Amino acid sequence: MSAAEKTLTPRLVKKLWIAFILIILLMGASYILITGYFANKYNQATAQRINADVANHLIEEKFQNASPFLEDGSVNKSLFGDIMHDMMAVNRSIEVYLLDKTGGILYSVVLDPSDNSPENKVSLAPIQSFIKSHGQEFILGDDPRNKDSQKIFSAAPYAIDGREGFVYIILAGKEFQLISNNLLEQYFTKLGIGAILLTMTFAAIIGLLSIWFLTKNLRLMTRTVRKFQEGDLEARIKKPENSDIEVFALSFNEMADTIVSNMDKMKSIDTLRRELIANVSHDLRTPLAILKGYVETLQIKRDSLTEDEKQEYIQITHDNVDKLSNLINQLFEYSKFEAEQVTPIKEPFSITELSHDLIAKFKVLAEKKQIKLQLDNPNENTMVYADVSLVERALQNLIENAIKYTEPKGKVIVSLHKIGENIEINITDTGTGIPINEQPYIFDRYKQVNKSAKKQGYGLGLAIVKKIMDLHDTTITVLSKPSEGSSFIFNLPAYQV
Ligand code: ADP
Repeated sequence: MSAAEKTLTPRLVKKLWIAFILIILLMGASYILITGYFANKYNQATAQRINADVANHLIEEKFQNASPFLEDGSVNKSLFGDIMHDMMAVNRSIEVYLLDKTGGILYSVVLDPSDNSPENKVSLAPIQSFIKSHGQEFILGDDPRNKDSQKIFSAAPYAIDGREGFVYIILAGKEFQLISNNLLEQYFTKLGIGAILLTMTFAAIIGLLSIWFLTKNLRLMTRTVRKFQEGDLEARIKKPENSDIEVFALSFNEMADTIVSNMDKMKSIDTLRRELIANVSHDLRTPLAILKGYVETLQIKRDSLTEDEKQEYIQITHDNVDKLSNLINQLFEYSKFEAEQVTPIKEPFSITELSHDLIAKFKVLAEKKQIKLQLDNPNENTMVYADVSLVERALQNLIENAIKYTEPKGKVIVSLHKIGENIEINITDTGTGIPINEQPYIFDRYKQVNKSAKKQGYGLGLAIVKKIMDLHDTTITVLSKPSEGSSFIFNLPAYQV
């Protein structure tokens, strides 16, 4: 068993088991209570139904020949003594009451009259319902010896010697209650033990099975996660949609895919970085080697060189120092973007004015190459909301490239157009164009430096432009056809005054 399984599964199983045991105990207790309640009801209902006619029989048989009342209206105690004797001999649990028509107790015959002297009245409503249903309904009546309890009874009306009332017989008397409670207790214990044992056995089987099923997927997932953690990057949860914990399985698979693809990306970035370092050192080494060569020649052949030669060598040295400082500046600038150290400070400014200024700045260079450099729509003042110095840098790189890659007599046009909420900035030249297969890579410093096209530069200019676009949440598009020219187009949000 792996470490993950060791810690994960038993804790979960323990919780599941506790939940199961609690449910079982709760079920067992409810089962016993419900069964006990209904068993008691059933018992009483049966006793009442069987003895429903006891009161009637008493009147019919015992009062047939003798009146329960004496001449002066008081109760015939000797007759009741006999009745008691007869009835108690058959059934010790009953108690007989002679009631007047208001429910008042005239006389009672109970087994043990010493304790709990009877009340002197019982309520008539249950007695009347009982008589009305002919003893077929389960009805509880007042217990004259315990006013808080209700008992099963039998009752029948009498009308003797001009007196009316009821014979009220409590069927589950004190004796009955004692025996019943005693038996119930015994059965309850047996029933409880039996029920708990049975439910425990079944619940244990069901519990084991469900815990096994529940944790089956979990075990599989834990194994897969562990495998992945140990370096098997191919490890995935098979058929996650069939898993009981589908969301978890899918999330794990997605997470694993993301990790693998990020690792791939990091690997390729790392490779590209290595290439960059190699290329940058190459870029630095070339002008340095040239510099070294000329400086050494100047030193060694100082006396044998003509003045013109000396001037030429110094000029070459100067150009290479320029190149080097240019390259170092660009590298420094690019690395700042790479390290995300540049935060754009956006503000409204006139892109028309900025374009004018840049065109003026590059005018001399363009004229030198006999290139016509102009601004389309020069009279309209167009405002944008962006970082002015970053946009200036991007435009400068684009115009510089356009001039650099355009042959004499060509044209470079900067145009500004409002399109919806944006200003579209377009730098079009009639230059050499960019081969279609190279177009996707021109903004990518890492790839570009490998291309032969870098003869005239270091491939950092467009990479910087791309970073500036990213910082403005916009993109730059290139439309180019070899030997016809190129257009670099990007959008900036227009500023509404
Ligand atoms: P570089 O310093 O080489 O000019 P850039 O990043 O500015 O670096 O440009 C990358 C490459 O894209 C260039 O080497 C060139 O091949 C191509 N390129 C850029 N702008 C133009 C253009 N206006 N016309 C033709 N080719 C261009």
